[in-house]
Amino acid sequence: MVRIIQQRGKCIGCNACVEADAFRWRISRHDGKCTLVHGVEKKGFFGVVVGDEELESSLAAAHNCPVNIIKVQKVS
Ligand code: SF4
Repeated sequence: MVRIIQQRGKCIGCNACVEADAFRWRISRHDGKCTLVHGVEKKGFFGVVVGDEELESSLAAAHNCPVNIIKVQKVS
């Protein structure tokens, strides 16, 4: 399993994560920031645990993020 975490408040809405992984990331029409699909908020950080098949695309999204607010961790 893979945990994806986003510090959403610092998102600049650049769309780079969406380009890497349009399945898991969407730009919000409400505030222009990116939303982690099915992410659950805890103290300003949004997190979701997904299957290993999303590891590669999630790492690409994290790598693309210019403000470095996406973290991807392998979890068992
Ligand atoms: S790549 Fe980072 S800054 Fe850009 S929209 Fe995604 S989360 Fe926000």
